[in-house]
Amino acid sequence: MSSLVVQKFGGTSVADSDKILAAARRAIRARRAGRRVLVVVSARGHTTDELIALAREITDRPPAREMDMLLSTGEQVSVALMAMAIEALGVPAISFTGAQIGLVTDSFHTKARIRNISTERMAQALDDGKIVIVAGFQGIDENYNITTLGRGGSDTTAVALAAVLGAEVCEIYTDVDGVYTTDPRIVPEARKIDRISYDEMLELASLGAGVMHSRSIEFAKKYGVPIHVRSSFSDAPGTWIVDESDARRLGSRVTGAALAKDEARITILGVPDRPGVVHAIFSRIAESNLVVDMIVQNIATDGVADVSFTVASADLAETLNTAREAANEVGAAGVTHDAEVAKVSVVGMGMKTHSGVATILFEALAAANINIQMISTSEIKISVLVSRDAAAEALRATHRAFELDRPAVSFAKAEDPKRTSQARLAPIGENGDSARSSSAGAVRSKSPAAAQRGMEDLVISGVELDVSQARLTLMELPDQPGYAARVFRKISDAQILVDMIVQSASNHENTHLSLTVPRGESVRAVAALASVGVGRVVLEPAIAKLSVLGVGIRTHTGVATRMFGALAKKNINIALINTSEVRVNVATESAHGAAGIEALREAFGLDRENA
Ligand code: ADP
Ligand code: ASP
Ligand code: MG
Repeated sequence: MSSLVVQKFGGTSVADSDKILAAARRAIRARRAGRRVLVVVSARGHTTDELIALAREITDRPPAREMDMLLSTGEQVSVALMAMAIEALGVPAISFTGAQIGLVTDSFHTKARIRNISTERMAQALDDGKIVIVAGFQGIDENYNITTLGRGGSDTTAVALAAVLGAEVCEIYTDVDGVYTTDPRIVPEARKIDRISYDEMLELASLGAGVMHSRSIEFAKKYGVPIHVRSSFSDAPGTWIVDESDARRLGSRVTGAALAKDEARITILGVPDRPGVVHAIFSRIAESNLVVDMIVQNIATDGVADVSFTVASADLAETLNTAREAANEVGAAGVTHDAEVAKVSVVGMGMKTHSGVATILFEALAAANINIQMISTSEIKISVLVSRDAAAEALRATHRAFELDRPAVSFAKAEDPKRTSQARLAPIGENGDSARSSSAGAVRSKSPAAAQRGMEDLVISGVELDVSQARLTLMELPDQPGYAARVFRKISDAQILVDMIVQSASNHENTHLSLTVPRGESVRAVAALASVGVGRVVLEPAIAKLSVLGVGIRTHTGVATRMFGALAKKNINIALINTSEVRVNVATESAHGAAGIEALREAFGLDRENA
């Protein structure tokens, strides 16, 4: 059978009849080259925004079900016009809505997840030689209610179809000619990236790079689908989003930077420092399906700690209600928030150690006189929270500091990346029942599409225990621009490797900055921190770092919660937390390492040899 290509055209790429005809010609070219072609389209131009505005003219609180009914019409217009265009150019074509291809989702209207896709009808039409056109962004739930996948969700439809149909590649045609080092609309000097790994793209997308819907990258990684992001308006090669082994880069530590402009911070004050409290708070929030990021707990003083986290501004009101209830429940002192913040992040596979990267980032912000309100890291990213006013300047300063406007040395291979396998990681049930596990990157021969469980279910690939580190906290660091930079200058001058970095939200005067370093370096690290000459250094000479690894962890709010719950049950207190798309890490006392890892294996249904 000839190879299959999935081509997705975004809103600007189908904005008017000329553009629709141009997209149609592109699909036809691929068909004439002997490939089977499936096209996914978005709503034309700003249609989705206009429909949302229309709904708001009617009511402030449109029912989510009716929102989906409304929004799905945008894509339905596009598929019909695209099919007409292709037919008019002399090639047989057929359009389908999400319902018509049996794209079944859960019932979370406006942010539904794909459970299952029936491939028969599409496969038949493709075999008949037709170009198949599918409406992006939409599906139906089990009761035939129309659902949508969340803004930007057509990318996810496209990659999901590429996954289940075994496409060679998923091409994303858009209004930029690839994935850039950051949003070129904010930083005109941004450069196109030739190749980027799934994990880096997952982070960038989920941290604000609007060019791809982050859930589409979860699919691509789980099913090994290469994605080619490129311009609708030219034939220039774009950006390949591929497996790590295909995307290795020389030299550069940072691959890209992202800005999430509309963020809000919530802090729960005076949280009793005992096992189970963090779990109680976040399980409430996870139940509401709210996506939280930058969960930061400062080190407890006098038996209480503050817990801060960020959410999208749009979710602030709902999260505040939930947070207030949770605060009450656990006997916390109160809840504060800041609705005017933004998150700036740098992402890169090459960030094996954070000291060098952190120093560059913090010094760049210090030089621009921008205050860092919170810091959170993962293995491949550092995020800082800044005031929204300073956000664009912070992004520009960051981009410049990492020289992202200069050409990167890449390993770009001559030939196009190939699909690795049908499915590399199998999803597990959201509640961990009957979970099978595979080690990260293991190749599975059976497609999970055939499995009972949902295609977008969480994938947990393993748990990890690291007992090689110590934790240092610099208490009472002044909450003013430049202090994090001074700390990290000392640390990098001493050439000390840093893994986790966490800076808690301030209480208006000062903040706590924690970092983890190899145990053998702890004495030198204490000296380096002391030499900053401010604050008070506290050392925990041996910690256990516990991690849960998987795909799409941040968007599946339940993971961190399940992790906190499992540890709470064993009476294990959590000192530091950091999250990313591919893992959640917590630091706890070293004595709890073994019990902690056992609790996590159990909670996530992992066998001993797999974890
Ligand atoms: P489409 O309608 O084709 O899905 P989107 O508007 O969703 O297009 O995505 C393309 C836009 O994403 C670009 O015009 C650009 O402004 C924005 N963008 C944000 N971050 C990046 C980035 N890192 N690289 C490229 N584009 C980005
Ligand atoms: N039309 C939808 C949106 O604007 C989906 C998409 O374009 O991906 O969010
Ligand atoms: Mg988009």
